[in-house]
Amino acid sequence: MRSRILIIYTGGTIGMHRNARSGALEPFDFELLLSRVPELQQLDTHIATHQFHPPIDSSNMTPAMWTDICRCIADNYDAYDGFVVLHGTDTMAYTASALSFMLGNLTKPVVLTGSQLPIGQLRTDGKENLITAVEIASARDAAGHALVPEVGICFGGHLLRGNRTTKQSAEEFNAFESFNYPHLVDAGINITYHRHRILTPDFAQPMTPHFRLDNNVIIFSLFPGIREDVIRHIMLTPHVGAIVMRTFGCGNAPQSPWLLGALEECARGGTVIVNISQCMQGAVEMGRYDAGVHLREAGVVSGYDQTVEAAVTKLMYLLGRYPGEPERVRRLMCESLRGEVTLS
Ligand code: ASP
Repeated sequence: MRSRILIIYTGGTIGMHRNARSGALEPFDFELLLSRVPELQQLDTHIATHQFHPPIDSSNMTPAMWTDICRCIADNYDAYDGFVVLHGTDTMAYTASALSFMLGNLTKPVVLTGSQLPIGQLRTDGKENLITAVEIASARDAAGHALVPEVGICFGGHLLRGNRTTKQSAEEFNAFESFNYPHLVDAGINITYHRHRILTPDFAQPMTPHFRLDNNVIIFSLFPGIREDVIRHIMLTPHVGAIVMRTFGCGNAPQSPWLLGALEECARGGTVIVNISQCMQGAVEMGRYDAGVHLREAGVVSGYDQTVEAAVTKLMYLLGRYPGEPERVRRLMCESLRGEVTLS
């Protein structure tokens, strides 16, 4: 049977054209976008579309819109074999991470893609990204199960696990990388599915969507010279439920008594503080240096090798799901819920 794919258009460069007067890129209509890719008709796939109004530059993405995308997938879940979400590249890794947590026991592909050059422009990467995304979202095994029942990002000939991915280049067609997890699929002359790297859901159970997110979270980066009043200001922000603290190397921070005191006070008050490295590759190891051990003693939890995008959206999901239960959120931040973290 032909696969049925729903393409959900949210916006992004892929669907933009240049405004003749201002010279800036702005979104255009979805039908026009699809008419630029007649090759889609050659695929043995039934394609339906859903457009969000108005299409947005993904810098304007919000948790409310993640809920809308999640609802669109949940409402259409039984009618389609897979979903392709067209999205701007700037916040695609955040959306992919958020959706991975919101869509529990996902048994069908949700493939996000977009492009660096608009689809109407010569040398666009949009056509290839879109066609490959649809092919991957359509692929099923002999039993009819999706080959990639995950939220992924399809870009530059690769499918990456969504919650492992970071935008690495504002310039190259190869805009994304998953530094701490190998590619799920490589598309060259053939499309190679690395099935041992792909999650296996319980195909007999339903997908469970979770719509509630709590965005009372903050991300901040340490740097030499960071001031006590700034840190205290961040930590005393009312209603903050969780902080992603970007540390040095394998999870180290200055050992100043005021910093450790502020962290300890904040953690004791019920705020979840997660240690994520400023390095793109590798993991936090809070036991490796004295500068990390002190953080653990202050109540900071390790984010191991999670991306910032995964950590912040996982916190929104967990705070929304388990309000008033910081200990539970801390524990779950150190567990793999959707393949977002390597625990050795
Ligand atoms: N600013 C655009 C966006 O994220 C960039 C892109 O799509 O590549 O919507």
